[in-house]
Amino acid sequence: MIDVHSHFHLHIFNHERGSLLRKISVKGIKAIITSCTEPLDCLRALKVVDMYPGKVFLTIGADPALTLEDDKVLETIDLIRRHRKKIVGIGEVGLDYYYIRDEETRGKQRRNFKVYINVAKKENLPMIIHSRSAGKYALDLLTSEGARKVVLHAFDGKVGTALRGVENGYFFSIPPSVARSRQKQKLVKIVPLDNLLLESDSPVLGPRIGEINTPLNIEISCKMIGEIKGVDFEVVKEVTTKNALNIFKEMRKYLKTDGGK
Ligand SMILES: [Zn+2]
Repeated sequence: MIDVHSHFHLHIFNHERGSLLRKISVKGIKAIITSCTEPLDCLRALKVVDMYPGKVFLTIGADPALTLEDDKVLETIDLIRRHRKKIVGIGEVGLDYYYIRDEETRGKQRRNFKVYINVAKKENLPMIIHSRSAGKYALDLLTSEGARKVVLHAFDGKVGTALRGVENGYFFSIPPSVARSRQKQKLVKIVPLDNLLLESDSPVLGPRIGEINTPLNIEISCKMIGEIKGVDFEVVKEVTTKNALNIFKEMRKYLKTDGGK
């Protein structure tokens, strides 16, 4: 299994990162992608991934609700370009209409998002998309800008919108909160297994509200997908890992695979 989206570099994991990584290997989790969301956060994340080569990978991004200012956007792009060889994607980036309610700031989010989509295209990197309460708008922009390598993480939009993403060949990563979210269960039901990935989004989106989530819990996502789709756990494991290595191609050179198994 591969955890395609987490915030594993965060401070909260400092004391248990080593022991978690040992448990993760035992569980058959091959790799974790951690995503930073602000330039300073990204500098810290770069240090953490350096400590675990071939195990913890990085995507550089900007929180669409909090990292909005022009200078932060430019800094983020500069970090992406400077560390292009080291990162496996851009993200999380996108739109957040849950925290941002005013139209002016939402417009700013959309302009920033367009910029990131075009950097991703130019650098030929996949993107991890945050689209809280903005699934439709995120999908509209991704489609009109011609984004091709896309992971919609913890997608909370309508299933009809999700299917438009499937038509575009986009992936949907499923967090452990699928255990308690009817909306996520519906999403899993409707999106084909070939478009699904596992994510923890740790430390948030755990199977139980209020608990600190860890990458270990992607096993719960994997089990739930199997149950909902009536597919064997081992098959879900195999297909989602293959999917992850298809989109995050930069990871392949580090992870020995036999066709994604
Ligand atoms: Zn996240």
